[in-house]
Amino acid sequence: MNINEQKKQFETQAIRTQTERTQYNEHSTPLFLTSSFVYDESEEMRAVFADEISKHSYSRYTNPNINEFVEKMTKLERAEAGYAYASGMGAIFSTMMALLNSGEHIISCSSIYGATYVLFSSTLPRWNIQTSFFDIRYPEMIEKLIQPNTKILYAESPTNPVCDVLDLGFLAEIAHKHNLLFIVDNCFATPYLQTPITLGADIVLHSATKLIDGQGRVLGGVVVGNKEIINKIYLFSRGIGSTLSPFNAWILSKSLETLSVRVERHCENALKLAEFLEQHHKVDSVKYPFLKSNPQYQLAKKQMKMGGNIVAFEIKGGFEAGKKFQDSLLMCSMTSNLGDSRTISTHPASTTHAKLTKDELAASFITEGMIRISVGLEHIDDIIEDIKQALEK
Ligand SMILES: *Cc1c(COP(=O)(O)O)cnc(C)c1O
Repeated sequence: MNINEQKKQFETQAIRTQTERTQYNEHSTPLFLTSSFVYDESEEMRAVFADEISKHSYSRYTNPNINEFVEKMTKLERAEAGYAYASGMGAIFSTMMALLNSGEHIISCSSIYGATYVLFSSTLPRWNIQTSFFDIRYPEMIEKLIQPNTKILYAESPTNPVCDVLDLGFLAEIAHKHNLLFIVDNCFATPYLQTPITLGADIVLHSATKLIDGQGRVLGGVVVGNKEIINKIYLFSRGIGSTLSPFNAWILSKSLETLSVRVERHCENALKLAEFLEQHHKVDSVKYPFLKSNPQYQLAKKQMKMGGNIVAFEIKGGFEAGKKFQDSLLMCSMTSNLGDSRTISTHPASTTHAKLTKDELAASFITEGMIRISVGLEHIDDIIEDIKQALEK
């Protein structure tokens, strides 16, 4: 990356990346749907396989479409290098397995994506990798959880599904004081709203399935960080086959071209919805990072450009009222995805988090009547109208 490249603004970097073209000189990046790449000479093939020269060989390793997507994400997140995966969980699992050995230890915030929670609390222990969870209200407790074998501090901000904001700069300081790698899942914010690496994170990962695709079409994941860490993660990942498909990479790279305008509208709509809900008599409380009444408003403003597209609120009447609200929606979709152009409503207590025990639910701050809205790109008046009529029922 030369100096001029680094100086370019976010919107430009998301669009103007050096693309690979065929002899037809396409303006839009072509799709390189091939599982492998051929060589003319045995000497060249030998050098590629010996890692002496870097050329595409096999799409489980690299592919022009994957590279383009990764290069954009790397620049947008202010990182040095990256690698892309078949899904967000593929990215998280591969990163953990590449960096940790049996007997090592993770410290993670307790409010994290459901499948990540299952990975840390049930799957990784099978390889003798344990996780201690800290309550996000008391980040100063992290130091008490550090053990001689602790290697990673892991966090999400804003958190899923409750939209709490963690002070990433403060967490980075604790991590580095104790020689831990600080990993941030930046899925809810996207690099348009916050770049954790500039706040001290060592590794940033994403489910590209969410706002990065933004149109509910493909799954994908990505990891970025410094060259040395990413090379270690890459060498592990290319061997186990969690790599992103070229087709999905092609879609996701195109999606990035509109990320800034999409996220901006998502956030404008979400703030308007949050302000509407705050005034509604059937709503007990609303959680949105950029609501002035949010105790974390100042921290959110310091760390994020806008508040994101997720609004959480507590409906009066608990579990049954939550389910009734879901059944009363006429337009908003009931599905488990988020960050789509279509507005999505979920009731975590009866769906995504139904398997959690009462204690685990409390630790994630999920209540029986909590509704999470992933605010889409429909006209805000129509979104509010649908939610209003469902609340009235
Ligand atoms: C969806 C999600 C993931 C997992 O991503 P997949 O692409 O579904 O595997 C991880 N973290 C967060 C915050 C998510 O929302």
